[in-house]
Amino acid sequence: MQKTLGYAAHNHNTPLEAFSFERREPLANDVQIEILYCGVCHSDIHQVRNEWGNSSFPMVPGHEIVGKVTKIGAEVKGFKVGDSVGVGCMVGSCGVCPDCQEDLQQYCNSAEFTYNSPDKISGGNNYGGYSKQIVVNQDFVLHVSDKLDLAAAAPLLCAGITTYSPLRHWKVGKGDKVGVVGLGGLGHMGIKLAHAMGAYVVLFTTSPGKAEDAIRLGADEVVISKNSDEMTQHIASFDFILNTVAVPHDLDAFTALLKRDGTLCLVGVPDQPHPSPSVGNLIFKRRNLAGSLIGGIKETQEMLDFCAEHNITSDIEIIPIQHINEAYERVLKSDVKYRFVIDLASL
Ligand code: NAP
Ligand code: ZN
Repeated sequence: MQKTLGYAAHNHNTPLEAFSFERREPLANDVQIEILYCGVCHSDIHQVRNEWGNSSFPMVPGHEIVGKVTKIGAEVKGFKVGDSVGVGCMVGSCGVCPDCQEDLQQYCNSAEFTYNSPDKISGGNNYGGYSKQIVVNQDFVLHVSDKLDLAAAAPLLCAGITTYSPLRHWKVGKGDKVGVVGLGGLGHMGIKLAHAMGAYVVLFTTSPGKAEDAIRLGADEVVISKNSDEMTQHIASFDFILNTVAVPHDLDAFTALLKRDGTLCLVGVPDQPHPSPSVGNLIFKRRNLAGSLIGGIKETQEMLDFCAEHNITSDIEIIPIQHINEAYERVLKSDVKYRFVIDLASL
């Protein structure tokens, strides 16, 4: 075992603080990574505060990890010391179930998450990316192109793939009218990716002050979702709407904007249920209400390669880890442009 440093939550209502713990020495199929940057996802806050009711402490959050390979196990193929790599939300899965066979490890019943999830090797808990280094099985390590700014690439490992996967699954492309609800970490990646895929992109926001940024990021139009006149102008016109909002809200306002057979896909995970959607809104135009969870490893690599090709990264605010608790407060006020990324050199 080797000692490393991180930042941890020790329970759901105290600030994160410096924490010393141990990682395993790399096994034959492991890649050891010096973590350079880690994005701050709203899911980190949900879990640190036990809003999903499944939190285990101490918890070292962080699943938007980018760094350099420092050591590899004897059986590792495809990675070498010095490579730029990423780790997202998962570090293991069963490998044999139908979901794993189809490269959809995120839907495997035994998916092992990067933190707040049992470590199947040590028997303890997995500790995430708010730390100096991590050891991960090679099957869950991604290549990150050196063409991309590594700090700005970190959020691709969760915000990027969580928006890319549903856009691909519902075959968004040229000629489609696509909505993105919420301009935060996921939402701003949703705009950039849908725009790069050729769609006509409309941002729905509760923050009028973000309109100009949304256009710069690639939106063709911005709608203030609290303004019912503006919403009404878009009734029954969307092929697909990606909803990234992290709090319960009225979904009918968005299902009403879908064309016949259109889809509203939820990726936000509020701690309380949304009010029930109107059945009438769905059946009269055969609309679909769906959800989507991150993306498989193969698709995450495809997304990273797509981003390298199209020069897409996140718009970030870099922070030292000592500012993490203030950063959480700012995320909760929708006051981040548009993802905090921790510079681990600060630890
Ligand atoms: P975020 O940066 O906080 O963005 C959420 C955005 O929602 C805010 O920027 C804000 O945008 C909007 N919003 C906030 N309060 C609102 C309200 N009361 N009513 C309507 N809109 C509101 O969060 P994130 O990191 O993008 O994560 C978003 C959600 O996705 C979280 O629940 C997270 O856990 C979840 N998530 C899911 C997956 C998955 O696999 N499905 C993966 C990662 C994250 P405006 O200011 O533009 O309104
Ligand atoms: Zn995340």
